[in-house]
Amino acid sequence: MPGSEEIFEGSCLCGRVRYRFAGPPGGMWHCHCTDCRKTHGAAFASSVQVDRGRFSVVAGEGLLRTHEAESGTRRRFCGTCGSKIICTITSEPDSVYVMAATLDTRLEATAVAHIFARSKVPWYDIRDGLPQHQTYSGHED
Ligand SMILES: [Zn+2]
Ligand SMILES: [Zn+2]
Repeated sequence: MPGSEEIFEGSCLCGRVRYRFAGPPGGMWHCHCTDCRKTHGAAFASSVQVDRGRFSVVAGEGLLRTHEAESGTRRRFCGTCGSKIICTITSEPDSVYVMAATLDTRLEATAVAHIFARSKVPWYDIRDGLPQHQTYSGHED
């Protein structure tokens, strides 16, 4: 419907941290970098870009903990259950990257690309046909 914005809502595993943003979200990225693998305990992390002004934490903000990498990338997670909620990147002050798997609202967005494919684990093959960038596709490889 023209003029209406879909609201997306998400939460952490324990449910104490809740967030929402007005859609539509930007692209989805599957990041295979070492930091994402470590923090998620998974082969890669999937996130969607959201304009910072459209995103808000609506419950449990005080529970959020922050890990800041040397690169300046800040990952925020629930201090109670450990769910990763968002990531921000120094070079993109107007964006937040929302961890797509924490969404409670069904997200139909199609993934854009795999990034940091150079750091991919050997036991997972990328077979979805999406572009694979060796580093971060938003900048020069
Ligand atoms: Zn939690
Ligand atoms: Zn990453």
